[in-house]
Amino acid sequence: HFRCRSAFKLLEIDDKFHLLQPGYGVVDCGAAPGAWSQVAVQRVNSDGADPESPFGTVVGIDLLNIPPLDGAHFLSSHDVTDPSTHTKLLELLPGGQAHVILSDMAPNASGFKEMDHERLIRMCFSLLDLAEKILKPGGSLICKYWDGALAQKLQEKLSGVFGSVRTLKPNASRKDSAEKYFFAQMYKKPMR
Ligand code: SAM
Repeated sequence: HFRCRSAFKLLEIDDKFHLLQPGYGVVDCGAAPGAWSQVAVQRVNSDGADPESPFGTVVGIDLLNIPPLDGAHFLSSHDVTDPSTHTKLLELLPGGQAHVILSDMAPNASGFKEMDHERLIRMCFSLLDLAEKILKPGGSLICKYWDGALAQKLQEKLSGVFGSVRTLKPNASRKDSAEKYFFAQMYKKPMR
């Protein structure tokens, strides 16, 4: 009943690390067609399926259209890297804050490996601007990247603002793809 097989990557990660808890606020970046959001809705109880547990919030964003989903609020035709999207998120999240930022975003692959790698890493860097605006201290971030020369720069940057950063390659991710995820925990808001 998931919209896309990618759901199994997030299920696998969450079964291991339990980052999605009932009551949490989650932002799902690059959410279309909505499989990760389906997982997030279940785990944070944003559809109220368990009336005994706290109700969470799920906001999904994509350049493409995301079909409606009970328990999720979608910003279709929105660019995650655009500051005006950040402003909308501040309004949609309770207290303007999220516990978790998920990103399975990826640009359309050009076929030029280096170029695609650099574009995706740049998108991941922009998630740090988003985190600064909406991520709770102690919060976590998962972001997909394609491995390559700049991955270490991104990891260093993440390590500067998160207490722990690890690299994940879920079993559900194809072995022959360069796709990996950074899982960063214990966000420390940078001083301004
Ligand atoms: N996690 C999704 C799921 O489980 O249904 C699949 C995500 S798909 C691999 C990557 C998505 O990132 C695409 O739908 C693409 O439109 C989106 N995307 C790429 N760049 C984006 C951007 N700047 N802002 C928002 N979404 C973006």
